[in-house]
Amino acid sequence: MTLTHPSPIWHPFTQHGLGEPIPLIARGEGARLYGTDGRYWIDAISSWWVTTHGHAHPRIMAAIRDQSEKLDQLIFAGWTHEPAETLAAELIRITPDPLTRVFFSDSGSTSVEVALKMALGYWFNIGEDRSRILVMEHSYHGDTIGAMSVGERGVYNRAWQPLLFDVGTIPFPHEGQEQAAFDALEAACAQKPAAFIVEPLILGAGGMLIYPAWVLAEMRAICARHGVLFIADEVMTGWGRTGTRFACDQAGVIPDIVCLSKGLTGGAIPLAVTLCSEPIFAAHLSTDRAKTFYHSSSYTANPIACAAAVANLDIWRDEPVQQRIDALADAQAAHLGMLASDPRVASPRRLGTIAAFDIVAPDSGYLSALAPRLIAHYRDRGVLLRPLGNTVYVMPPYGIVPDELAQVWGAIATSLDDLR
Ligand SMILES: *Cc1c(COP(=O)(O)O)cnc(C)c1O
Repeated sequence: MTLTHPSPIWHPFTQHGLGEPIPLIARGEGARLYGTDGRYWIDAISSWWVTTHGHAHPRIMAAIRDQSEKLDQLIFAGWTHEPAETLAAELIRITPDPLTRVFFSDSGSTSVEVALKMALGYWFNIGEDRSRILVMEHSYHGDTIGAMSVGERGVYNRAWQPLLFDVGTIPFPHEGQEQAAFDALEAACAQKPAAFIVEPLILGAGGMLIYPAWVLAEMRAICARHGVLFIADEVMTGWGRTGTRFACDQAGVIPDIVCLSKGLTGGAIPLAVTLCSEPIFAAHLSTDRAKTFYHSSSYTANPIACAAAVANLDIWRDEPVQQRIDALADAQAAHLGMLASDPRVASPRRLGTIAAFDIVAPDSGYLSALAPRLIAHYRDRGVLLRPLGNTVYVMPPYGIVPDELAQVWGAIATSLDDLR
């Protein structure tokens, strides 16, 4: 198999054998990514769901610059610094009262690993034998071994199945089948598992599958009745994507553990947090060093990343972020509405700023032959979109301007014409 370009880089989720061109990006601003020759692409997937306000937001860039002149990195075991303290206090302030503790890490996957370890550490330290994890069908929680274990099994993790631990799977609560999901959760909870982990309101990598807030609230209530810890993976849904700052807000749900990453720094630099309620922290609080929460990574709470996140929170406080989200949600609804009656379009759906639909295709699913053709079609028309199989979704930064969004949906319309 020959490589199509001279770079030694092995890209993620990229089949180099297909010889697809790999654009070289030099600069980003707002929703635009500029190539070295000045050509640009509209980033309609927020560079994989991370860029919230827009690329290179001046305030976040300034915070990174300022912090880089003060303190670059600090061991976080037993030491602390101001950006982390400011950020943690602010996160506790803006989330529901029962969430009292902030544990830092550096990616969505690690925030999930931390959540699972917290849940098991809790039961272990209070002396109860509970270790099974419940998950929702079609979920995605990251690509490390533990995060894959609690996610959907498929072509993208087949080679590693022997390493994945066993979980209990609750069926996805499709419309009209909610009771079956509740019954399955109720039955699984009665077996005294450690925790239930969910993507609230929308399953991202699973195909932008949406379920209503009342279903999330009911599932949370079932877990509470059985004392099963409820973990909300808000790695994708957090920071406004679903229309509210956090998806759980729409359901009035307060989880025991929450994972946040992607938009935490506005998407500028890697950082993650796992928030938890006091009993989980308290179960680890002891003069007995054996009860310590043994988890860390070298860059835990990196000061530059924390400063970027503090700037993100400042932007949420000082700029009309919610208005931008509402305006984008309306615009997305309008664009999606224009395609909704097209016979080639199935299951048009939207939650907040996220719009998705399926292309009616003989081969659906993640390895649908449509996906690479669609990606090329969009790339050739100045649009960065990356369908999940035959599911096309648009998840732009909130600062995208109407003309840019129209260009995205224009490319989608021509893709339907060209590919069918
Ligand atoms: C992206 C994602 C993750 C993993 O985050 P990484 O930063 O890529 O490790 C976990 N959970 C959900 C819901 C995600 O969308």
